Amino acid sequence: MRIILIGPPGCGKGTQAKLLQDHCDIPHLSTGDMLRLAVESETAVGLRAKTAIEAGQLVSDELVIQIAADRLSERDCSTKGFILDGFPRTELQARALDKLLETQKFSLDKVIKILVADEVIIQRVTGRFMCMICGAVYHEEFRKTHVEGICDICGGEQFTRRKDDNQEVITSRLHVYHLQTVPLLAYYQGKGILESIDGSSPVDIVTQQLRKVVACR
Ligand code: ADP
Ligand code: AMP
Repeated sequence: MRIILIGPPGCGKGTQAKLLQDHCDIPHLSTGDMLRLAVESETAVGLRAKTAIEAGQLVSDELVIQIAADRLSERDCSTKGFILDGFPRTELQARALDKLLETQKFSLDKVIKILVADEVIIQRVTGRFMCMICGAVYHEEFRKTHVEGICDICGGEQFTRRKDDNQEVITSRLHVYHLQTVPLLAYYQGKGILESIDGSSPVDIVTQQLRKVVACR
């Protein structure tokens, strides 16, 4: 299955993609995660992407298309497919993805929009924190660890927050989403593969809706 999850920053793409990855055995690809790792490791890609990420702007199409294409060319994506999270974000990226899939003789199965209002997004993003060891994502109010201070997944005791998860930067990220990514919805609607789910319900309800749409088993 070849799926794209699309929606504003903080709508739950990563949370749902990780759950779907396990349920359907399809790799989860997040360009945001790839770029943050590159920034942390101070690679050439990371150095080029850092300023844009911290300002809540998009990294250049050329750079993102390259890292996405590299990952999509790995064997697991050709055998199992993928769940794309955070890519494509511009029409140029969407067209590049189409071209890549065409050369691989694959096509997209579904593009799923996760609907969440902007006011909720601010709460989601400003309360987000992650395990420093395994990257599991939590929320200080909506998705706490079962035992305070201990990661449910790996038992880690250190957590971190994203530098761009503050009120000022999220305003800019939302603006960029409406301006540059929302037009993609019409693009995929035109291809007849766009589906929408309500992302404002609790995580397990959203998961149920998503599983119905994806129906991998
Ligand atoms: P995205 O990958 O779209 O940026 P995340 O999956 O990281 O979003 O979710 C953003 C924040 O919202 C995280 O703190 C996460 O725990 C929380 N969250 C995700 N889905 C829900 C939900 N359905 N209800 C409440 N909080 C949620
Ligand atoms: P995310 O983790 O998806 O919220 O992405 C975090 C940041 O990484 C974004 O605000 C952008 O700066 C950058 N980024 C991630 N994916 C893309 C993309 N497809 N195109 C451009 N920039 C991206």
